[in-house]
Amino acid sequence: MEVAVICSNCQNELVVDSSNAGEPFECPHCKAQLVIPQQENPSVPPPPPASEGTTEEPHYSVPLTQKPVESLIQKALPPLEMAKDGEKTIRIKTIRRSECVEVGKDLFDQKVTAFLQQIGEKNIVGVHTVNYTHQDMASKALLADYGVLVVYKG
Ligand SMILES: [Zn+2]
Repeated sequence: MEVAVICSNCQNELVVDSSNAGEPFECPHCKAQLVIPQQENPSVPPPPPASEGTTEEPHYSVPLTQKPVESLIQKALPPLEMAKDGEKTIRIKTIRRSECVEVGKDLFDQKVTAFLQQIGEKNIVGVHTVNYTHQDMASKALLADYGVLVVYKG
């Protein structure tokens, strides 16, 4: 687009192409060095510098690699579904014998009994035995052990 420029030296009106705004040019009358001005009333504002978006991109790459790890950890602990309108949902509880041994004392029977009493007989759907192996922290040996899987309504 052509714009009219008044030469600051000789006051002659010059017509220049505003698409070259910011570029120096020479006044044809007095040879003064002038700069092509921006369009006086631009209907379209100049676009923001493109470098802003590209330079910020590397900053996002670091949190992006950490987020999937966080979400995987959270998925391992799904929130218990809340019972709606008094309706109970089926749940399971696995009790491993190795988790009930405290200071050499086997509290497995005691803990299973306490849990069954807590949920109540009418809510017990089934009690199943489970066998599993676990690594002993001290000896690093793989030990076979047992536990129970309680299916209940709660
Ligand atoms: Zn001039």
